Amino acid sequence: MQGPDYRELKEQAYEANMEIPRQHLALYTWGNVSAFDPERGVFAIKPSGVEYDKLSPDSMVIVDLDGRKVEGSLNPSSDTATHRVLYREFPGVWGICHTHSTFAVAWSQAHRSVPVFGTTHADHGALEIPCTEFMSEEAVKNNYELETGNLIVETFRKEHINPADMSMVLVAGHGPFAWGENAGDAVYHASVLEEVCKMAYLTVSLDGGAASLPEHIIRKHWERKHGPNAYYGQR
Ligand SMILES: [Zn+2]
Repeated sequence: MQGPDYRELKEQAYEANMEIPRQHLALYTWGNVSAFDPERGVFAIKPSGVEYDKLSPDSMVIVDLDGRKVEGSLNPSSDTATHRVLYREFPGVWGICHTHSTFAVAWSQAHRSVPVFGTTHADHGALEIPCTEFMSEEAVKNNYELETGNLIVETFRKEHINPADMSMVLVAGHGPFAWGENAGDAVYHASVLEEVCKMAYLTVSLDGGAASLPEHIIRKHWERKHGPNAYYGQR
């Protein structure tokens, strides 16, 4: 008897992980991507501590939503529990990317949400990119990676943000997580997040009191791409 075939899921996760060094989103092994299969309730994730040029589709680890390793010879990413919480709590999220990209980390370390300063940001989200609170001592002691996921979920609940409308978050003092409808989409959002953070940093450097983009321009840019009458791109 052959077990279920996870080849496609592993390939999707592998390809998305290889985008991290290509997009210069992390040094060494400072980033991970996973790809979720909602029907089977499992995801493929990067193995822990393995450099990108040593990865292969076969080295991806299959984990279920309770954290059990389903397939793979290596240990999954140390951030696996964070991915697991987000797949559980954010329906429709089928890919997650975590990096330590420089500008996104800078905003995380400054403990600042990123205001919508321009249309590049508004094209990808009509809201500030939220930054969480710092994690409590109790949460860190309990289960650090799982609680990182809980912290992200709590931040979205508290601020009434739908994860379908904002696919990026900054974890205070740590760095960015981004997601999407598949693993490639999650890496795309992680790249956009880094670029938006860089632009926002430069904006604040030029003008410390820079104002957010007026609401009517934010709406226009968000809706022409994502609204009911979206017309951006080839439809
Ligand atoms: Zn990290």
